[in-house]
Amino acid sequence: MINSERLAAEFARQAAISSPSFGEGEIFRYLTERFRRLGGEVVMDGAGAQIGSESGNLIAFFAADGKEGEPLMLSVHMDTVGPAEGVAPLLRDGVFTSAGETVLGADDKAGIVEIIEALEVMREQGIPHGPIEVVVTICEEVGLLGAKHLDYSLIRSRRGLALDTSGVDLLIHRAPAANKMRFEITGREAHAGISPEKGVSAIEVASRAIAAMDLGRIDGETTANIGTLHGGQATNIVAKKVVVEGEARSHDPDKLARQTAHMVACFETAARDLARDVDGEVIVAEVKTEVMADYPRMAVPLDGSIIRLVREASARMGRELEIKGAGGGSDANIFNVHGIETVILGTGMTNVHSVDECVRVEDMARVAGLLVEIIRLA
Ligand SMILES: [Zn+2]
Repeated sequence: MINSERLAAEFARQAAISSPSFGEGEIFRYLTERFRRLGGEVVMDGAGAQIGSESGNLIAFFAADGKEGEPLMLSVHMDTVGPAEGVAPLLRDGVFTSAGETVLGADDKAGIVEIIEALEVMREQGIPHGPIEVVVTICEEVGLLGAKHLDYSLIRSRRGLALDTSGVDLLIHRAPAANKMRFEITGREAHAGISPEKGVSAIEVASRAIAAMDLGRIDGETTANIGTLHGGQATNIVAKKVVVEGEARSHDPDKLARQTAHMVACFETAARDLARDVDGEVIVAEVKTEVMADYPRMAVPLDGSIIRLVREASARMGRELEIKGAGGGSDANIFNVHGIETVILGTGMTNVHSVDECVRVEDMARVAGLLVEIIRLA
């Protein structure tokens, strides 16, 4: 039923179109044409203009054909991480890789190609189906910007599948919420050799704060990290300014709030502990804290309709479906907030976000086959 050769040719074509975040113009034009040829009605929303990308999100509508039903959303993202200049996909022994200098872009083009092959099969075989809404977002890799700015008035679906994770016959139903944090510490500068006692070192404050912090895997559902630290001017100056950036994630909103508060408190405590009397005046380093909610958590119940649908499709094909939680946020987190109950389906992509990225044609065919069954049952 699935045409692996057609699927592989489609993947090779798309992978060769460079589509870094904000630079999705060419892949958008290609996909518009491609979905139209499949009988879809394609529109672009206004997200691109809002976030400064070459194109907006793409939404392709496929009307019901011979079957009533609630619409089903199938989502993927069209942007890739870098290096993405001049991607040259190679197919050897049934496995796609890049030539080595760039990513392959299987994240998330494997998913796009699987949807296209499934739609080809639906059409070719005349399989009845309900309405389908394919949503291809921009700028997923730079903070889910396309999904965050998607024109939701265009989408009717209340359930969806985001094809955007490694593995096959794998479903992700939980993902953490995340906070990003930025701490700007301002101490007092002084000559490090002549009058160090007149300075308050921002570097010392930051170091103490971080040393006192619980980081890494906090518990089974919470993680935290300090990712960047920039500051200081010269070895002979007590450092005035340091900027530290970090994040926390948790599947539990209370734990996320607690971990975030803990990290903020560590900086404030360190600043107080290093307060110093300079010429009769108490100098305390100033800590400016910014906490930004990056994305909310996703927690689709195991008896939710979208999970029942994928389970039934897998069972009918005699497949074992693995359902589990994940450690990262994706467009699906945002769709769930907008009332589209969305889970994430494995696409077979491997070693993503590296030049060793690869994907097997056989795995993409397997996922496309499952998609046909899902669409048929939806
Ligand atoms: Zn992705």
